[in-house]
Amino acid sequence: MKMKGLVVNREAQMIGVYIPELNETLRGIPSKKVVKSKKIFAGDYVIGRTIDDNHFFIEKLEERKNFLKRPPVANVDTVLVVATLKFPDFDNFLIDNLLIVYEYLKTEPILIFNKIDLLDNKSIEELKRWEEIYAKAGYKIVKVSAKNGEGIENLKEVIKGNISIFAGSSGVGKSSILSKLLGIELEIGEISNKLKRGKHTTTGVKLFRFNQNSFVGDTPGFSKVNALYFMDKREVKNYFREFRRYRCKFPDCTHTIEPDCKVLQALKNGDISNKRYESYLKLIKKL
Ligand code: GDP
Ligand code: ZN
Repeated sequence: MKMKGLVVNREAQMIGVYIPELNETLRGIPSKKVVKSKKIFAGDYVIGRTIDDNHFFIEKLEERKNFLKRPPVANVDTVLVVATLKFPDFDNFLIDNLLIVYEYLKTEPILIFNKIDLLDNKSIEELKRWEEIYAKAGYKIVKVSAKNGEGIENLKEVIKGNISIFAGSSGVGKSSILSKLLGIELEIGEISNKLKRGKHTTTGVKLFRFNQNSFVGDTPGFSKVNALYFMDKREVKNYFREFRRYRCKFPDCTHTIEPDCKVLQALKNGDISNKRYESYLKLIKKL
C-alpha cells in the first residue's frame, strides 16, 4: 500500500522516514531512480511502501517548496527567529536581516522574544514598542520564557503541524526553547550541543516530532546574516513586508529620494517605523 512519509533524519546512509499513517519511523531505502534523481534530505516528503516492519521503500520524492542549505533541510514552514530584549540586548538590524533572508528563502519567519522572565517594567514597555513595530510590519510575534515556560503553549499552537527550525544569535535561548517544546531537559544533552555547534555541524539534521505532527530541527540556521549576501541591493525593498503594501509612482522606486514615494509618505505619517526604515537604509548603504 502506498504511503506518504516525512524524512526526519538524514545522516550519511541512514534515512529515517516518519509515516503518519503508522505513527512510526522506519528506515528508508530509496529506489535506484530516486537515488539518481536527487539527494534526500530531512524535511523531504516521500512516497513509497513498507517492505517489512522496519523498512520503507522510497519510490518518489515530492517537489520541495524550499530548501535551506544551513542546515540542510527541505520544506521548512516556519523559522523561529529568536531574540531577547535583554541578555543579550536586542539587535533590530540583525533581526531584520534574518527576517528578510528567511522570507527570501521562501519560509515564514516568526519573531520569538525569549527570556521575558528577566524583564523589569521599563523593559516590558520597551518590548511592547518593538512588538508593535514588528506586528505592524506584518510579522507574527511570540513572547516566551524557556525558563518558566510562559508562552510555550502558545508557541506550540502557532507552529502546530509545521516543520520549523531555529535561528538567532548564540545565547538567546534556542536550545532552551527546543527542550521546552520537546518537554525534555537538555542541560548538557546531545541536542543542546548540536544546536551550539550551529552551522559548523557536519552531521545531518534531525527533525523532532512534538505536539502531534509538528516537527522542529535540532540544528539552527543563521545566527547572523547579511541580506546582501543573498540578494541585490535593489531587491531588498521587496522583503520589507510593510513596503510592499504601497504602490509608488515609479515601479523601481528605491523609496529614498523619488517624488511621490508612498513609502516615504507612510514613514512621515508614522505608518512605517523609523527603526525599520533605518535598517533598510543601512542595508542599501544609503545611511
Ligand atoms: P542558545 O545559544 O540560543 O541555544 O541559548 P541557550 O538555550 O543555550 O541559552 C543561553 C543561556 O540563557 C543559558 O544559560 C540558558 O539557561 C539561559 N536562558 C535561556 N532561556 C532563558 C529564559 O527564558 N530565561 C532566562 N532567565 N534564562 C534563559
Ligand atoms: Zn517609493
